[in-house]
Amino acid sequence: MSVRVVARIRPLLEKELDRDVIVRADRVDDGKPLTIVKIPSPKNESEEFSFAFNSVYEQATSQEELFSAEVAPHIKALFQGLDVTIFAYGVTGTGKTHTMRGGLKLAERGVIPRLLSNVFRRGKKIAKDSDGETTVQVALSYYEIYNDKVFDLLESPDKRTPSGLPLREKDGKTIVVGLSERACEDLKDFEKLYIESNNNRITAATKLNAHSSRSHAILRVKVTQVTGDMVRESTASAIDLAGSEDNRRTENGKERLIESAAINKSLFVLSQCIDAISRGDKRIPYRESKMTRILSLGQNNGITIMILNLAPMRSYHLDTLSSLNVSSRAKRIEVREIENEVVFKQAPRATTGLGGLNIQRQPLR
Ligand code: ADP
Ligand code: MG
Repeated sequence: MSVRVVARIRPLLEKELDRDVIVRADRVDDGKPLTIVKIPSPKNESEEFSFAFNSVYEQATSQEELFSAEVAPHIKALFQGLDVTIFAYGVTGTGKTHTMRGGLKLAERGVIPRLLSNVFRRGKKIAKDSDGETTVQVALSYYEIYNDKVFDLLESPDKRTPSGLPLREKDGKTIVVGLSERACEDLKDFEKLYIESNNNRITAATKLNAHSSRSHAILRVKVTQVTGDMVRESTASAIDLAGSEDNRRTENGKERLIESAAINKSLFVLSQCIDAISRGDKRIPYRESKMTRILSLGQNNGITIMILNLAPMRSYHLDTLSSLNVSSRAKRIEVREIENEVVFKQAPRATTGLGGLNIQRQPLR
């Protein structure tokens, strides 16, 4: 199966209502769904570029519509043992965080709280339908990659080691060594943990917005189903990538330049990986950044959904074009759809497909 690549065009905010809108959704034919994004050429306004995606969501699309069309259909597969990865890509200010996290009001909730809510609901149903024979546990890890360093967001910032956590490859998966994990019983549990740890993203020197647009945030939801001595584990990862804009155009401070170089590098490596895979190259440059190692596009088994967030205004023109270019090539990536093996509790780890993180079990706070 390919990576599914969908584009979401955000509406104008109140203060933007007088802005010039240049990005629009279109269809190949009358009656067909929206799959095309159109944008004028920056050099010649009368010329229009078209980019094709698996699906395109217009300005008016609600959080619920996006979730039920793109994420809900994969929850079943997650419980069948497939890993699911959803990542938001795009320029800062285009709606990545709105799409993934969303607002506090029920209708404004993004992919992440909806995903968790669905996972808890399905987990409870499975346990109930099995008459208690199957137990379902949900555990969270949450971390960010900042300047190509991995920081655990479930730990308070003063406990961080400046060099960050190392990565290691294990059973064909990239794991973050020493990453913590918390059990989560229900949506309330999750929300408390999520709000707390998002606060950990604020560092002394940087405002939240500036910081979050420069780091990649990765939430990992591990679902463990135990029936007798059989254990099935799968994970859903929800990733809010750093802004894909060309920071070199706007930033000049030294720290900013180091950050920009690291962000630009990881997003540049991502675009190179996408190109290499879509060309069918043998060598994919995954290992050149931590973000691409973790994302392992086309290498990870399971289902991958890339959401390209777009702002429709002219002020984003060049950055929008560049993100359209990168993401429209990502569709050609093949993802192997392989279920994680069911493992037996007593089996030695070497014989298992139990990939995932090196776990430090921690009690629920
Ligand atoms: P990013 O994370 O890509 O930098 P944000 O998610 O912070 O962008 O979005 C920028 C602004 O646009 C925020 O004020 C957000 O609430 C608003 N916004 C983004 N997408 C939508 C949407 N689909 N509907 C309404 N407001 C949106
Ligand atoms: Mg954001």
